[in-house]
Amino acid sequence: MAYTRFKALDLLHSREIPKFDIKKRKTSEFYGENVFNGRTMQEYLSKEAYEHIITATSTGSKIDRKIANQIASGMKAWAVDKGATHYTHWFHPLNGATAEKHDAFFEPSDDGGAIENFQGELLVQQEPDASSFPNGGIRNTFEARGYTAWDPSSPAFVIGTTLCIPTIFVAYTGEALDYKTPLIKSLNVLDKAATAVCHYFDKNVDKVISTLGWEQEYFLIDEALYNARPDLALTGRTLMGHASAKDQQLDDHYFGSIPDRVATFMRDFEYESLRLGIPVKTRHNEVAPNQFECAPVFEEANLAVDHNQLVMDVIGKTAKKHKLRALYHEKPFKGINGSGKHNNWSMATNTGVNLLSPGKNPKSNFQFLTFLINTVKAVDEYSDILRASIMSPGNEHRLGAAEAPPAIISVFLGSELTKALKGIEQRVSNKKMTPDEKTELKLDIGKIPEILLDNTDRNRTSPFAFTGNRFEFRAVGSAQNCAAPLIVLNTAVANQLKEFKKSVDALIEKGIKKDEAIFQILKKYIVESKKILFEGNGYSDEWVKEAEKRGLTNIKDMPEAIKAFVSEKSIKLFKDNAILEKHELEARQEIRQEIYVKKIQIESRVLGDLAINHIVPTAIKYQNILVNNVQGLINLLGKKEYDSMENTQIDTIKKISTYINEIKTQVKLMVDERKIANNLSLMEEKAEYYSQKVKPFLESIRYRIDKLELIIDDELWPLPKYRELLFL
Ligand code: ADP
Ligand code: MG
Repeated sequence: MAYTRFKALDLLHSREIPKFDIKKRKTSEFYGENVFNGRTMQEYLSKEAYEHIITATSTGSKIDRKIANQIASGMKAWAVDKGATHYTHWFHPLNGATAEKHDAFFEPSDDGGAIENFQGELLVQQEPDASSFPNGGIRNTFEARGYTAWDPSSPAFVIGTTLCIPTIFVAYTGEALDYKTPLIKSLNVLDKAATAVCHYFDKNVDKVISTLGWEQEYFLIDEALYNARPDLALTGRTLMGHASAKDQQLDDHYFGSIPDRVATFMRDFEYESLRLGIPVKTRHNEVAPNQFECAPVFEEANLAVDHNQLVMDVIGKTAKKHKLRALYHEKPFKGINGSGKHNNWSMATNTGVNLLSPGKNPKSNFQFLTFLINTVKAVDEYSDILRASIMSPGNEHRLGAAEAPPAIISVFLGSELTKALKGIEQRVSNKKMTPDEKTELKLDIGKIPEILLDNTDRNRTSPFAFTGNRFEFRAVGSAQNCAAPLIVLNTAVANQLKEFKKSVDALIEKGIKKDEAIFQILKKYIVESKKILFEGNGYSDEWVKEAEKRGLTNIKDMPEAIKAFVSEKSIKLFKDNAILEKHELEARQEIRQEIYVKKIQIESRVLGDLAINHIVPTAIKYQNILVNNVQGLINLLGKKEYDSMENTQIDTIKKISTYINEIKTQVKLMVDERKIANNLSLMEEKAEYYSQKVKPFLESIRYRIDKLELIIDDELWPLPKYRELLFL
């Protein structure tokens, strides 16, 4: 049921805050208790099965069918012990959510009873009737259905009474229909390319993983107020609402004390997350009122992506339990900061080395510089595709709005590293490294982590910033699946490392010493990718001008920005590395265009409805009150006397009329444009039309509604106002 504004406020004020009983358990007692992890596997699996799955996970080898049966039966026994009655393959379809279809374990038996059954084949592969997931035309509903296949590298878990098994989702014809498939491929390609480069420095390395530590921002809103805002409930953001007199100006929310109600909620969702083995560690208030952040300890990227998807789900469900709603939209409220999802990314070897962490000696620093410079070069080379990966209808509002990194992709390195790179650039080639230079490498680079990690030399305005021992990709949207940018980043860096190895090997073959060869190529890269490096204020107008001079692109519009995803360069990158074929990229493109169209279409419909059926009638009601008032005064005083008085009533009545008329006209024009858009046959054209012709009305209609909000009697205003929504 929808609440009116005052009913909702009453509910809010009489709310009993739900309690959460932590049960006095130590984290070590319950951490991972709902996960089929190494510890549990040893308990429920034979030694043979356990070792088989461990090897398969670390080497990517296939799981034997017979063993799969054993694993399935152990997994089921564990899940049933935990109270599970159902199981599901859990996957990441391209609509950005996660999907599950629950099946019961039991099977009726001949004697009229039932047995709990779960075979290896049900674990390994399934064919969900999932024909409604977006597939961009790849999958004809009548021909090839999609199937899900077990990803043993991400452990199964129990939520409620359901065993969830992480899987990939692909078409029978082989095309990926999800995020996980290309993500895993990109991780493998990066592993091979990075391991090969590591061998220049250390022959003991035989695996490189990519690490991800996400930071998830979100808003919390009371449930009653949320229900009284059809725009929030249907689109995830407010389509109207005048700024509150006070919001984030005083910075008093940021890192402030967490409100009791929110702290209770956080303890609850963190407890559930920890039981799922998600290492959530950090919580704090964010910049905007009612905005919060949660961050875990970083993990291997595939697992971290699953954990992020899972945590979003856990936060959402726990919020409901606490009569709250979590908002992941990148820009739920105009005029205050939106939400992002920083992706802290690095690469680590099986020998325990973080490849983006400056080392303690010249050799490890040389390795560090190699990976650092190759990453910079990759970002420079593929910046358009990176931006394409993080564009969404929500993120479009955030990028370039002087609160989040601009839509210009650049890399921040900090002053020490910038100096180090300059040093390499100026170094005369073809001479051996002098002992002095070696010491310099050690001293200069060795002190970088301390400086950057203690936050003194950080640049918060950069979309892609080095932060001491990792890169932080800050332009990612809060609602997005982290896999989308990671697929591009891993593939781009892998491709770059391959190129690097080729070039270095070619020099070595010519008789140049290895160290010198590496130096020469790195030096070349520094020169070539200089334009992407920027240390200044990314929010400033000067940067926009400077970036243009440098030839960096600045695209804020989603349909335009995502074109890079199907450019020749992109097709080649993904094909060469066997991540995605051209038609898969095109299919993904179409899915994103369609999502864009649908989202703007829904926003436009909701706004039209609210404007005509909620706001205009309210405005007329208030206008009538004013008209009656004026009429009454004239009756009482006489027209002459009334005219001689100073009064603004008539002005207000006229103003309201103007806004009402403008709103009505604009809604009509917007609907007409929507009709034209809906008749376009190409999805690309449709998306462009929605962006250029429909979207602008959302702003201009809102502008007038927000003006009316300031004029009309507070008692009459139907929707909760920003000042009511934003302070828990
Ligand atoms: P900050 O405010 O400094 O950005 P946070 O604690 O909010 O710090 O988030 C930092 C994130 O970076 C955490 O998730 C952390 O685990 C992650 N991180 C640290 N080192 C690495 C690494 N080598 N690879 C990936 N992520 C990392
Ligand atoms: Mg951060």
